[in-house]
Amino acid sequence: MIEVPTPPMADGRPSWDEYFMEIAKLVSTRATCPRRSVGAIIVRDRRILATGYNGAPRGLPHCPPQGSQQDWPDGCMRAGHCIRSLHAEQNALLQAASIGVPCEGATMYVTCQPCNTCAKMIINAGITRVIYEGDYPDPFSLELFRDAQLDVALYRHGKLEALAL
Ligand SMILES: [Zn+2]
Ligand SMILES: [Zn+2]
Repeated sequence: MIEVPTPPMADGRPSWDEYFMEIAKLVSTRATCPRRSVGAIIVRDRRILATGYNGAPRGLPHCPPQGSQQDWPDGCMRAGHCIRSLHAEQNALLQAASIGVPCEGATMYVTCQPCNTCAKMIINAGITRVIYEGDYPDPFSLELFRDAQLDVALYRHGKLEALAL
């Protein structure tokens, strides 16, 4: 792993990476599945294009409060995954699509490593850089990013660690 230093901020202001990741964390607090709260934002040229958090499709009921402990129909789980929610990355991509904003060449900041379904969508949306903080047990998504030659970095304690995939 190669550490990429973020530019020093003499005046105590956050770096751009910190700024966008902190916003992604705030976005995650809107998540509606009790299993996990994830936030994603899509950025290009230091501008936020779209935001997303994990939750049920719009207008539909949220996951039940104890949903993550029980399979559907009592809870929201099936085979170890929530089946009611869209993932944060998907909701950010769909928000961009619904307002007609292209994601080509953009960066996605996400509070947790994308799963392989989101990774495939991120690749096909034309996103070229992914920065994430938390881990997620899906090494196949990293294989996809590697094969599609995306630039992937881990965000740890305010710094970026480039991932040699
Ligand atoms: Zn759920
Ligand atoms: Zn996902």
